Order: sequence, then structure tokens, then C-alpha cells
Amino acid sequence: MRNYLKHFINGEWVESTGTNTIDVINPATEEVIGRISDGTIEDLNRAVAAARAAFPSFSQTSKEERIELLNRIADEYEKRKDDIVEVVMQELGSPITISEKTHYNMGLSHFRQAAKELESFEFSERRGGALIRKEPIGVSGLITPWNFPTNQTSTKLASAFAAGCTVVLKPSEETPFAAIILAEIFEAAGVPKGVFNLVNGSGEVVGNGISSHPDIDFVSFTGSGAVGQKITENAAKTIKKVALELGGKSPLVILDDFDMVKAAQIAISNVVFNTGQVCVAASRTLVPKSKHDEFVEAVKAILPNIPYGDPQDKSNIFGPLVSEKQYNRVQGYIQKGIEEGATLVSGGPGKPEGLEKGYFVKPTVFTNVTNDMTIAQEEIFGPVMSIITYEDLDEAIEIANDTIYGLAGYVVGEDREKIEKVAMSIRAGSIRVNNAPPEMSAPFGGFKQSGIGREWGSYGIEEYLEVKSIVGIPS
Ligand code: NAP
Ligand code: MG
Repeated sequence: MRNYLKHFINGEWVESTGTNTIDVINPATEEVIGRISDGTIEDLNRAVAAARAAFPSFSQTSKEERIELLNRIADEYEKRKDDIVEVVMQELGSPITISEKTHYNMGLSHFRQAAKELESFEFSERRGGALIRKEPIGVSGLITPWNFPTNQTSTKLASAFAAGCTVVLKPSEETPFAAIILAEIFEAAGVPKGVFNLVNGSGEVVGNGISSHPDIDFVSFTGSGAVGQKITENAAKTIKKVALELGGKSPLVILDDFDMVKAAQIAISNVVFNTGQVCVAASRTLVPKSKHDEFVEAVKAILPNIPYGDPQDKSNIFGPLVSEKQYNRVQGYIQKGIEEGATLVSGGPGKPEGLEKGYFVKPTVFTNVTNDMTIAQEEIFGPVMSIITYEDLDEAIEIANDTIYGLAGYVVGEDREKIEKVAMSIRAGSIRVNNAPPEMSAPFGGFKQSGIGREWGSYGIEEYLEVKSIVGIPS
């Protein structure tokens, strides 16, 4: 049992002022694997006070000092590899291979990347008679979800530290252990006291406390649109800047000149990745009408060979959903797809055979989906693909953009001009062509209701900075 009943405040592990605890469950076994403190507003206030007190000195550190700090953090992070891989496997249910290749690596890459970005980052410039300076925005409240317990926290923390901001982090209560290891890493790396503070607890108490706190200058949130809205409303009362990363309903446009077997492989691997619990999941697959049957046949041939199940088995590429709540949510959408008249190609309601224990779902593919159906409009956050057909490229683009979201878009094809046309026309923050690997220095974030602001690389650092102009300094 992992019992982590302390918060990390002002460089120390401290008891909560409350006595309530929250159980953490391994979604593959449904067993309680540990507990955290259900933090209180008093805990949060202590953490905010520590972050405020640390701000004047940390905000004045040099770029070189912060590059060194970020690299020390990355070095310490590397030493904790085995712990991180195991903890993400246990609390999220991520297969060990993905836990290492994706979760461990992405967390690490943000610290290394932020250090690299700082090398060439200019914090001041001259424009005519003005000196323009970029200064850290202040105490930053970070609220993170459960789907990428190392990546979502690390991208925010690396950018905040690079900018010179002090922080209070509230990770998801579903997956809090990765953040505890991060706190231990920061301790070992010598992050100055008060610069990083961790308060565990619920969104209703600690999360809500962060967005309304008068001594917090900026909130960076990743999670659902509904909570993003609440945070924005709260933050408005103290004119607090917010950055939001709220998920999407991203289209994968398959061009008619592309090999349909390859297209099906890309589409399936994307939609089952992290059990579909991915904000940039390509959950709407747009297929040329003339290629529909060929594509569906390819999907049917590939899907039964996708290994999933026990996260401890190295050959599995996806595990259970994170919680019973997510299981029920995904089941609800599968049911809705059937009710609204979509055709099941594969999968469907209920648990997969042999995986009755744990929050496992069948990888599910629907075809004859129209873009107005609920399963084509709402974020499911599970391994569920909706196939929608199109007549010509203009129609494909129209369907792709017919959504309240704009986080990501995907194109697979051969013809460069057509690929470019689709990539330029989709209103989304990042476009991936032919399964290209992600670029850690490129910005990440959404158009439309997918969010406000950008993370990753230098764009991520910019979020944590205010701009000041000074004129008239005597020379
Ligand atoms: P969520 O409620 O938005 O949770 C995300 C984070 O916000 C958690 O740390 C949560 O705390 C906290 N939170 C909850 N209520 C809050 C409030 N009033 N003020 C401030 N913070 C608050 O997400 P969820 O319920 O876990 O997932 C629901 C759906 O959201 C998913 O099915 C998916 O569609 C979407 N989602 C998107 C992303 C993404 O990457 N964009 C990630 C996760 C989920 P707790 O620890 O108490 O939950
Ligand atoms: Mg859990």
C-alpha cells in the first residue's frame, strides 16, 4: 500500500490540516493500492503563502541558474525511471511498455526541452525607445487530469520553472502518485523551498480553491470543458489569467490515394492508444465513400490482433480505462451509438471475454456514423472509433471542422497538395500528417472550445510570462 498522507509545502512533507483521505484504485484489479490526503483550503492557503514567499527570489534567478535546475531535475527524474514506470502502470492501468515509452519519456522530455529552449530564449528586447521585458507572471496554480500523469504535470512545471514562476500543483485524485514522485525528484534536485508545492485533494475543494485564490496569478488547467468553464468563471473574479487544455473530437482524414490497410493501422493504433483516453485522439475517421468497404475490411482484419489487457504483460498495448466512472461513461456512449443508428463493426457494450475484473472495454468501431450523432460530437475518452464517409475533399474538410473542438487533426495520404489543403483547412492547434512523430519544441493547444493558450517548448514558457515595457531610462 502506498500511503502518502502528506502534502509537500515550502520544501517539506507536512501533515494535512484535515483528516479525510482518498483511496487510489488500480483500474486493472479494482483494488485499493494506496491513499492520499483529501486536502483542505487551509492546506492550500499554506501552499500559496509558501509560493508567494518564494516568488521574489526565484523570479530573480538567472536564465543560466534555471537551465541548470531543469537539467538537475531531468537527471534526478532519470534515476527514478523504474518507480515512475511502475506507478503509472498501477494508478492509470497503462501497460508497462507504454508506461515506459510514452509516460516516462514524455515527462522527461519537457524538462530537457525547457532547458534547451531557455538557451535561446530572449527575456528582453528593445523597440525604439522602449525596453521590453518578459517577467514571470507570479504564483501559478496547476490543475492536472489523470490521463497522462507525468506528461500533463511536467509540461506545466517545466514551463513554470523556466519562466521563474513558483507553483501550487493539484494533480488528479485518480492518479496522484506520479506527482508525489515528482515532488521527491524536485527535492533531490534542490528546487528551492516554496518554489514547488503539492496539495493533494479533490477538484471541488483544492481545485476550486486554486481558481478563486486571490494570491494566485495564473491557472493552468488540463481536463474537461465543464471544469474549464468553472475555472474561468472563478478566475474572472480576480482577473486571473487562465490557460486551458480541454480535449477534442479530432478528425483523421484518409485520402483516397492512400493504402487502406496502412490507413486502418494508423487509425486503430491512434484510437486505442492510452485506451483512447487522449485529448488528441483521432476519434472521427473520415473515409472516402469509394474506399469505405475496403477500409472496414482492413479494420476487421487488424483489430482482433491488437493485444490488450493486463498492464503487466509487456505485449499488451492498452489496458483498462482509469476508473469505474470512465467505464460507465464509455459504455453510455457505446449504447448511444447503437441507439442513434450507427453500425457496429467491432466491439460493443460490456467487458471483453476473460477481462471481467478491471475497467476493461472492448475496442469498438462504428460505421455509418453521421457527424451530427452524439458519438461524433462528444468526447468519449475511450477506444471508440466513428467512421464517417465523405464524397470529396471539400466535404471532408467541412465535416472535419463541424465540431465545437479544435485540438488536433490528422491526414494520411500521398498527394502533397491535397495533404496541405487539408492540413491548412482544419481549424485545430496541431496537425499530424502520415503518423509523423510529435515534435517537443512545437506548440500544443487548441482552437475553439479545445482551450486557450499553448503548452510545450518556448510557447509553453510564454504562458508563464507577463510583458513589461519601460521607456525613458536615462542612458
Ligand atoms: P475533470 O473533472 O475535468 O478533472 C480534471 C482535473 O480538474 C482533476 O484534477 C480534477 O480534480 C479537477 N477538478 C474537478 N473539478 C474542479 C473544479 N470545480 N475546479 C477546479 N478543478 C477541478 O475531468 P474528469 O471528470 O476526470 O474526466 C471527464 C472527462 O473530461 C473525460 O471523459 C474527458 O472527456 C475529459 N478529459 C480531458 C482531458 C484532457 O486531456 N483534455 C483529460 C482528462 C479528462 P479531481 O481529482 O477531484 O478529479
Ligand atoms: Mg485509479
